Amino acid sequence: MAVKALDAVQLTTELIRMNTVNPPGREEPCARYLGALLEAAGFRTTYHGLGQERVSLIAALGSGGTKLPLCFTGHVDTVPLGAAQWRMDPFAADTDAGKLYGRGSSDMKCGVAAFTVAAVNMAKHLGPSCGVTLVITAGEETGCEGAFRLYRDGVLGKAGALVVAEPSSNYPFVGHKGALWLKARTHGVTAHGSMPDKGVNAVYSAARAVSRLERFRFPNPPHALMGQATLNVGTFHGGLNINSVPDQAEIGIDIRTVPTVDHGELIRLLAGQLGAEVELEALMDLTAVYTDPADEWVQCVFEVMTSILGEAPVPRVATYFTDAAALNRAYSDPPTVILGPGEPQMAHQTDEYCVVERVEKSVAGYEEIIRRWCLS
Ligand SMILES: [Zn+2]
Repeated sequence: MAVKALDAVQLTTELIRMNTVNPPGREEPCARYLGALLEAAGFRTTYHGLGQERVSLIAALGSGGTKLPLCFTGHVDTVPLGAAQWRMDPFAADTDAGKLYGRGSSDMKCGVAAFTVAAVNMAKHLGPSCGVTLVITAGEETGCEGAFRLYRDGVLGKAGALVVAEPSSNYPFVGHKGALWLKARTHGVTAHGSMPDKGVNAVYSAARAVSRLERFRFPNPPHALMGQATLNVGTFHGGLNINSVPDQAEIGIDIRTVPTVDHGELIRLLAGQLGAEVELEALMDLTAVYTDPADEWVQCVFEVMTSILGEAPVPRVATYFTDAAALNRAYSDPPTVILGPGEPQMAHQTDEYCVVERVEKSVAGYEEIIRRWCLS
């Protein structure tokens, strides 16, 4: 592969030009392209299928000593373009006034490009060290499917600390809320709409459940940084035609949890309050991610980023969830930061862009984080 000194902005451009809108995803060309760059620098790579033209990539270099490797993770799929017309071509990767435009520029092809370049730049030092592992996933935007597949397949190996390169404008976040998405279903008995007494109306049971959900209060104490968990009823479907008694209704519930909530206990509590007429099914179950800001490595990352940001970071959390919810199960909750050059407010937006200067700076930040973990 013809590569001069690898440049993170140029690499972001290449990645944006590969359409990985999910669905359907088609992350394979992105993963293979990055894999080839990493192989050329000495990394061992493995590819893990998620479907047609869909793969995740794991690349690792170094394995010395007793310390575990440092892991960087990012996804290469993107959300769809949305209904609004784009001013910029979403797959051209045009630059204007220091901004690089394209779907996935901020979320999060620039983050993946930046840590790939940092890893390649540091590769010659990593062989004898504890090493660096890159986990580049497919299928994040539809509920971290790719990362959970890697977890279930047992291929993630070990890691002693985790950097999630989701967009944070280079500000290190120490965690994010979890997400528990539930489907609540009620059943009834259908009858002709002119004789409702002959049936059992599933919409009435679902409506009772919705009122209970509106009144629900979380019993756990709020979290110091994340506050309290939230619950929202996002969908309500019931009935097929106006002149029948509906025999089924469904409610979609979006719960965002904090580290003081145990998902299993919460489901049991909700099931108790909603009663036997409601059947609950978990559609997505991602636990919250949080590392005590006093952690030694988190403090080290804060120190590294202070010179890049021009200010000392204070403990903050991200508003979105990440693949860390899956990876941390495999890695037994190592210290984790969410740190990436993308702009969080541009994620999933029309005319998404990333800021060129931040991408360049993040490479220096990642290199220093690697140096301090692996070489000191
Ligand atoms: Zn993302």
